[in-house]
Amino acid sequence: MKHLIIGNGVAGTTAAQNIRRFEEAAEITIVTEEAKPFYSRIRLPEFMSGSLEESKLVIYRDEWYENNRINLITNKKAVSIEHADKLVVLDGEVKLPYDRLLVATGGRSIVPPIPGIDRRGVFTLRTIEDARRIREYAEDVVSVIILGGGVLGLDLGNALRKLDKSVTFVEYFDRLLPRQIDPAGSAVLVEKLKTLGMNFVLGAKAEEALGKDVFEGIRLHDGSLISGQMLLISAGMAPDVTLFKELNIPPRRGIPVNDRMETELPDVYAAGDAAEHEQKIYGIWPAAEKQGETAGVNMAGGNALYGGTTPANFVSVAGVDIFSAGEIDAENLLTSFAYEDRDSGIYRKIVVRDDVVAGCILCGDTSGRREVHSAIQEKRPVSDIQETIDRLKLTRLSGSPQKNRRQISKP
Ligand SMILES: Cc1cc2nc3c(=O)[nH]c(=O)nc-3n(C[C@H](O)[C@H](O)[C@H](O)COP(=O)(O)OP(=O)(O)OC[C@H]3O[C@@H](n4cnc5c(N)ncnc54)[C@H](O)[C@@H]3O)c2cc1C
Repeated sequence: MKHLIIGNGVAGTTAAQNIRRFEEAAEITIVTEEAKPFYSRIRLPEFMSGSLEESKLVIYRDEWYENNRINLITNKKAVSIEHADKLVVLDGEVKLPYDRLLVATGGRSIVPPIPGIDRRGVFTLRTIEDARRIREYAEDVVSVIILGGGVLGLDLGNALRKLDKSVTFVEYFDRLLPRQIDPAGSAVLVEKLKTLGMNFVLGAKAEEALGKDVFEGIRLHDGSLISGQMLLISAGMAPDVTLFKELNIPPRRGIPVNDRMETELPDVYAAGDAAEHEQKIYGIWPAAEKQGETAGVNMAGGNALYGGTTPANFVSVAGVDIFSAGEIDAENLLTSFAYEDRDSGIYRKIVVRDDVVAGCILCGDTSGRREVHSAIQEKRPVSDIQETIDRLKLTRLSGSPQKNRRQISKP
């Protein structure tokens, strides 16, 4: 059986690994438009800041491909799928045949349509090449603006802070990490990060990138100006569905897949950031890995089902550890158990839905993370983690939009 995989990220590579596990005689080819074998996208900010060598970014070297008899084609872009003939066309017009195909093309950084955004000095980070370009440009720069205060934005800000740059975050929402923490958690985090020299403009919409040829700053919706010599955009990811757009199947936001990671096309699978499963595009490593595994097992003739991934994020920003998982209940509509100590930058919240542990935010101190995370994953009753709740000094708050954070106990 000929297996062809487009994309050499965690989804494509994990699929290849699983095909080999279950099909000894399979012919496996991976095509990537990048120059490197499988590397850690997650660690790109560390590489960018110079704290991680390029060789340490690489997860699987050439020997791994040789040992697993996987043919890796680098620096080649797949430009179309001729599914009636089971062929993938590469640029340069080479056509690769397949019996089963996996589209694991990942995502592209979203660039908001702001006038002037194409000036020199404006960057996004998705690939090792992007990281190199950013690092090189940053050498002559003192002040950087980061558009977006999500996980990646904060990671980038922290990396640039390590290079002694002055960093200002501009975030559309009125809080940092809008997908991971609630307003109270964000307030604790902002206070802590300000003490480390980072600047924040929250609830702000960028209207224009300023400068002649080179970026010099941004104008916000209220007319105010923020100057900076470099702009890093971290405004989310869009699934790369280019190959599917050309076919007669209109993709939704991502490539629609069922629980087996099958698309509507016979023998064509999709996984990772490019795939949309039950209307969800996860955009996170563990989901891409699990989807790749599921696709690989099924491509090799097995029967694996993907049942979704509970979003869980661990980030460490300038020494502040943050872990969040499941429902964060940003509006405080549900019952929760919480604790806040602004002086030491600690905020904890466990969210409960129908007496079941549904989510958590642990900011500044992630003690109890394992117990709480497994309770969320296993949908356990909150009474099961009473000992943890007591140890973390959490106070019960009943859900209501008007709930007042003053109810949270201070040490
Ligand atoms: C800087 C950064 C930090 C991140 N940090 C975290 C984190 O802390 N935690 C977390 O869970 N997630 C994080 N993520 C997200 C995580 O890296 C992704 O969810 C994951 O890499 C997706 O894997 P994938 O295999 O679906 O796609 P990708 O890793 O994007 O791989 C897709 C590959 O396909 C190639 N490709 C695309 N189209 C074609 C084509 N037509 N022909 C040939 N090749 C093609 C691309 O060049 C790419 O190499 C981060 C992402 C970035 C960019």
